[in-house]
Formats: sequence, C-alpha cells, structure tokens
Amino acid sequence: MTTRRSLLGLIAAIPFAAPAFAAAGRFAVSYTPDEWRRRLGKDAYAVLREEATERPFTSPLNKEKRIGTFVCRGCALPLFSSAHKFESGTGWPSFWQPINKTAIGSTVDKSYFMVRTEVHCSRCGGHQGHVFDDGPKPTGLRYCINGLSLNFVPEKSA
Ligand SMILES: [Zn+2]
Repeated sequence: MTTRRSLLGLIAAIPFAAPAFAAAGRFAVSYTPDEWRRRLGKDAYAVLREEATERPFTSPLNKEKRIGTFVCRGCALPLFSSAHKFESGTGWPSFWQPINKTAIGSTVDKSYFMVRTEVHCSRCGGHQGHVFDDGPKPTGLRYCINGLSLNFVPEKSA
C-alpha cells in the first residue's frame, strides 16, 4: 500500500544517479539503504547500490588468476567463473559470460550521454558493471565488472 505522500517522499529520497531497478524492491534479497551501507561499507555501497564505478586498476581481482568463483558481494550469489575471465586491459575484472543464464540481470543505462547495458546481480539487484559487445570469442561479449561488487572464492584444492 503506497500513499501518494509516501511515494513522493520515496522519489525525493532517491539520489539522482540511483538505478530505478534497485529502488523497485523486486529482488529476493533486499535491505534498506542503511542496512546495505552497514553490510557493505562505504565504497562497495557506492558501487553496488548507487552504480558508482571504481577507479580502474584498483581492484586486486584484476590480477586474480586462481580457479574459483566470483560471487556477489551483496548476497554471495555466484555470478562469474574464473573459466570465463580474461585480461581486457581496461583495469576492471572482465568476463566473456556470466556463470549461468540466471545470475545476471540487465537494464539499459543512458547516463553520461551513452547508451550502455548495465548488469546487476539477479538476487539482490547489486550493480556489477556493464556489458559490451567487443569481447573475445566465443560470445564476443565483455562483462566489465567492478571488483568492489565481487568476492572471490577459490576452488578448494583436492
Ligand atoms: Zn547479489
């Protein structure tokens, strides 16, 4: 139940750059902005919940070469596999496909006078980065992902 008054209050409370999908509350894992801020810390909050972009070449995950799984920092859903990681030279962890067909959702992002495809975690809506069509074979896609949006879980050695 949403009154006109609370709806207007909600809209006014959303910062200019906040993604509409994150405010929609349609994700299985959902917290208030304050709770997210507490769980994620300032930097990861800015990326995951406000679509900030981390500075290139700052993530330790750029150099992560071990076999394992990259999971959402917001909700720990597996999003990308080391098997699909490649060195893009952009300064952001890059993958040519998500770990499966359901992990990643997307929206059209028209900010900064560009039309890009924004990608986010399908379980918590946490912003991951963008996908471009200049990636390597076999998909030709480049998922350009913020390291702050991910945690790496190395595969246990047998
Ligand atoms: Zn998530």
